[in-house]
Amino acid sequence: MRIDIISAVPELLDSPLNFSIIKRARDKGLVEINVHNLRAYSTNKHRRVDDYAFGFSAGMVMQIEPIDRIITKLKSERNYDEVIYTSPDGEQFNQKMANRYSLSENLIILCGHYKGIDHRIREHLITKEISIGDYVLTGGELPAAIMTDAIVRLIPGAIGDEMSALSDSFQDNLLAPPVYTRPAEYNGWKVPDILLSGHQAKIDEWNHQQSVERTMKLRPDLLK
Ligand code: SAM
Repeated sequence: MRIDIISAVPELLDSPLNFSIIKRARDKGLVEINVHNLRAYSTNKHRRVDDYAFGFSAGMVMQIEPIDRIITKLKSERNYDEVIYTSPDGEQFNQKMANRYSLSENLIILCGHYKGIDHRIREHLITKEISIGDYVLTGGELPAAIMTDAIVRLIPGAIGDEMSALSDSFQDNLLAPPVYTRPAEYNGWKVPDILLSGHQAKIDEWNHQQSVERTMKLRPDLLK
């Protein structure tokens, strides 16, 4: 799988994409992630990629030309499953989308900045607009990193124990059961006996029951 992220502030993506599971997945060749500096596609001598908004008093807008150039270049080299724009008014990102995109071959994620991107880019070049929640961030880099993380950890082989990703919250519209580790007792706080019983079938049943109970209590909307 290949993910091309387009950003005017690529430094913001340095650390989220270079540690832990994502780094391991990249090192193993399971995913190729390329972060493209949009400023390299500017014709402006100061490498600007924004300009004043028509009819709007405050804020700058990202220009069409550099974005069109890089997207056109990338699309001339391979086919993309989706050209995603991170946007607060997009469809809200969730685990189902992460599962679906983890099966993609090639994705582009465009990070906005300032007041956003010239709307014509959204009309003509973007195939999907995704939000990570109902709040406004400074740029699309954190949303791009969040989506990339959620997607990449689902690629088979990215996580050592594959069952671990499958038993995470939201995979079956259920929240994950509680987890414990040693010591079995701390300050009188005990791990549930069943988890120490060694009886795997009963442990599985208990975990499932806990998932259902926690979902009913904390996120009943998931069960509808
Ligand atoms: N003027 C825009 C609006 O009100 O919808 C917000 C622009 S925001 C300051 C700059 C960029 O950050 C956006 O273009 C988008 O790429 C990104 N962004 C901000 N919040 C986001 C969110 N909740 N989900 C996804 N992307 C977001």
